[in-house]
Parts: sequence; C-alpha cells; structure tokens
Amino acid sequence: MTRRWLFADQLGPHFATGRDGVLLVESRAALGRRRYHRQKLHLVLSALRHRAAELGGSALLLRTDTYREALAQLGEPVRVYEPTSYAADAFVRRRLRTGEVEGVDPTPGYSLPREEFARWAGGRRQLRMEDFYRFQRQRLDLLVEGDRPTGGRWSFDDENREPPPKGARTLGVPAAYRPRESDIDAEVRDDLDRWERDEGLETVGHDGPRLFAVTRREALAALERFVAHRLGAFGPHEDAMLRGDWTMAHSLLSVPLNLGLLSPVEVAERAVQAFHDGDAPLASVEGFVRQVVGWREYVWHTYWHFGPSYRHRNGLGATATIPAWFDDLESDGVTAACLSDVLEGVRDRGWVHHIPRLMVLGNWAAQRGYDPDALTEWFQTRFVDGYDWVMPPNVVGMSQHADGGAMATKPYVSGGAYIDRMSDYCGGCRYDPRKRVGDDACPFTAGYWAYLDRNAERLEGNHRMARPLQGRHRLSDLEALVEQERARGDDPP
Ligand code: SF4
Repeated sequence: MTRRWLFADQLGPHFATGRDGVLLVESRAALGRRRYHRQKLHLVLSALRHRAAELGGSALLLRTDTYREALAQLGEPVRVYEPTSYAADAFVRRRLRTGEVEGVDPTPGYSLPREEFARWAGGRRQLRMEDFYRFQRQRLDLLVEGDRPTGGRWSFDDENREPPPKGARTLGVPAAYRPRESDIDAEVRDDLDRWERDEGLETVGHDGPRLFAVTRREALAALERFVAHRLGAFGPHEDAMLRGDWTMAHSLLSVPLNLGLLSPVEVAERAVQAFHDGDAPLASVEGFVRQVVGWREYVWHTYWHFGPSYRHRNGLGATATIPAWFDDLESDGVTAACLSDVLEGVRDRGWVHHIPRLMVLGNWAAQRGYDPDALTEWFQTRFVDGYDWVMPPNVVGMSQHADGGAMATKPYVSGGAYIDRMSDYCGGCRYDPRKRVGDDACPFTAGYWAYLDRNAERLEGNHRMARPLQGRHRLSDLEALVEQERARGDDPP
C-alpha cells in the first residue's frame, strides 16, 4: 500500500486512507486560478485543514504553490481516487506516466461507477433523467417494493410544486443546522485576508460566518437536523421562494456532499428511514431522494458522458457578455425585487436554492442571451457548492438549453407570472409582473417574450415550445416590447 492523496472533495470516511497515510495538498495557485467566492475558498480550506487535524499523524498536509510541487516535495508515489474534473483527470494521467501517481481507483464518492453508467447509457437515444432515477431507485432499493415504487408512483413532483404559504414571511420550520466556527476557521480567515491584501488574491462576494458543514461530524449533525425537523416540509415548498427565508426547508447538504463528507447513499437511506419511521411524508422523501441519487448523480455522469467540449456548447448562439453588476454581484443597483434579493444572497452566502438559481438567475441570463460558457464559469465560481462537474450540465444543459436539448426537453424560461406565483417578491417590486411594456413592465415578462422572438427559429422544431412560440403572434405590442428590451441594454433592471 502507498500513501493516498485525497483531493479537497474526497474528505469523508468512505474515501479509504492508505496504510501509509494520507496526503492532503493546499495549492495556492489553485485557489487563485479563478475569481472564486470568498466563502467558497473558506469552506474548502477549512474542510481540508479540519480533515488534516482529524487524521493527525497519519496525514501530511502540504501547502505549496502547485500540486506538482507537492508531489515533488513528497518524493514518493501516491494512489488517488478518480478526480472530479477534466483538468484534474489530465493532471493525474500525466503524473501516472511519470510514476508520481501509482494508480487511480474508482471513486466511492458517487453511488454508481462510471463503467456501469456507460452500460446503462449504451444504445439509449436519450439519457432521460427520469429513466436514470428509476434505475437508481431499483438498483439501490430505495422506496421500492419488488418492482413497484412505494406509493404506486415514481414521482410525487406534482405535489412538490406548491407556492409559499399565503401571507407568510418565512416557511416557519426550525432553522437549519448552523456550525460553530473553530480556531481553524479563524486561521483560514486570517490567511485569506492576508492573501487578498498582500498577494493579489482576487475573490468575489462578501465574507461571513461559516454556514455549511465542513467536517464529518458537522455533516452528520446537519443531516440529522434536516431529517428530524425540516424534511417533512421540504417537498411541498421545494420550489417556493420567500424574501425573508433563504433556506426555506432545503437541506444545505450540497456543500458537505460535494466535499465528499457524506455518501449520497447514506443520505438518501437516512431520508427513506424517516419515511418508514413515520417521521416524514412520502412526497417529501421522494423529492429529496430524487435530488440526491437522481439528479445529482445524473449530473455527475453526464459531465463525463458528454465530454469536455460540452461546456462550450452554444445551441442558441447566445454571445452577450455578462455585465459587471451581475458578474460582481452588485445587487444594490438592481431594482427588480427578485433579482436584487437573489444576487444579494449569492453575494452574502454564495448559495441560493435551486429555484432562484434556475428561475431567477438562469432565466435572466437566458433572456439576456449571456454566453453559456461564461455563465457556467460564473455559477461555478460564485456558488459555494459549484464544481467543474456540477455546473456544465446544470447551466449549459438544464438552465440555458445550449446543448440542443440533450438534457432538458425545453428551455427553463418564464415570465414574471411564475416568479409571482412561487414567491413573495412581486408585491414589493417597482415592476408589475403582468406588464410587458412601459416603465413598470416586468423585465422578466418582457424578457420572456423577447427571448421567444429572438430564438423562434432555433426553437421551432421543439414541440413543447410550439404553443408559447405561437402565442407571441397574438401580442399586439411585440415590436414595441422587443425594442424596449433592446434599449434596456446591459443596465441593471
Ligand atoms: Fe421580479 Fe418582475 Fe416580480 Fe419584479 S415584478 S419581482 S422583476 S418577477
């Protein structure tokens, strides 16, 4: 056995350590390669250093400029688990040739090995998430009775799309788990301050108290708190947004899951156990299991399946540059209540849940025709749970429909009516979600029709878009609306 080099997203006990110990590397160059959210860097460094402290003498934490330097300093070969990006994969392959990496083992970070996904995908014309999810449920024996799904349905999605409770400012569920910062966090904060001040490290977003689990102990506590107090309310309101409640009933487990502190199967099994114990309703549990072993794993596998060029796909020819206010998370100049609040959330926490990501930020970007490659980079660096494998399928495929429909059967764009139904934003906004034209025209409503008009030809063959595309011909003010949106330019709405 040789020393095991564990990457910064392989920090849980299911990533077995080598008999001769563990190598952990903090690469200063990797931290500064992109303009990451300050809190993202904090979480990764904190997780790495906490893991090194837990492992004690059996772990060697090297702080070097590059990974290459770390391997040279170590001076002996290491074994690794499959890394989680094309760049890291190429690095590992080069080091295999030099002998610095002795071998690459399949990652235990996901429930389905890559060869098995390839077998599942082989010969399928379309890789439908629904089919993959059923395959996962059956294979992992989650909410199934024989061949049948528990409750008679594979999906309870239609019960999980409720708007927020009327008049409520918050969902009213017990707060999510909140970690207590340690001396390691203080040290990480000092280092980041110093690197920003003296070494030109550029970050984006605000620093703030650590909100997410970075150790195994914290991750298990976060899981237990979610299952005991919040899972029941998760399902019905998983798509709803409230200005005064950024967590709603979401689990906040994407960070510890993506740091490799929890295995997806243990998380899903714990939720299923809560259903069997009578502690959470089936619709909520099913919705959660779908996210963890369905969507999340589907995204992981499609990242590899579609290849490295996937993130550059641009099926709708969107080439607009992301404006500085959006890029820098400057929510102050934005008067659209929804966009302002969501940008503020990203600035202050590096995290908003999946609907603000998809139906506010992604929707906005699609309507304005932001370049999907740049937008993928934006999501990857601005979100504390964003990784190279996470964002291309989510942004290029799901959100921007830039892959020609390989992942999603239609673009996720909507007017202000959707945001109005699913949130409390519009009541306090200077715009009116029903208005398309004029000073108080909702930029999402106008943007929706402008998007359809601009992309009509490219979306023509998509039968799910036939009705919306047809609908634009009934608008007497379409021309004025398109002109109004053109005149809006890059300015914040
Ligand atoms: Fe957002 Fe439009 Fe509603 Fe304002 S009116 S909050 S811009 S959807």
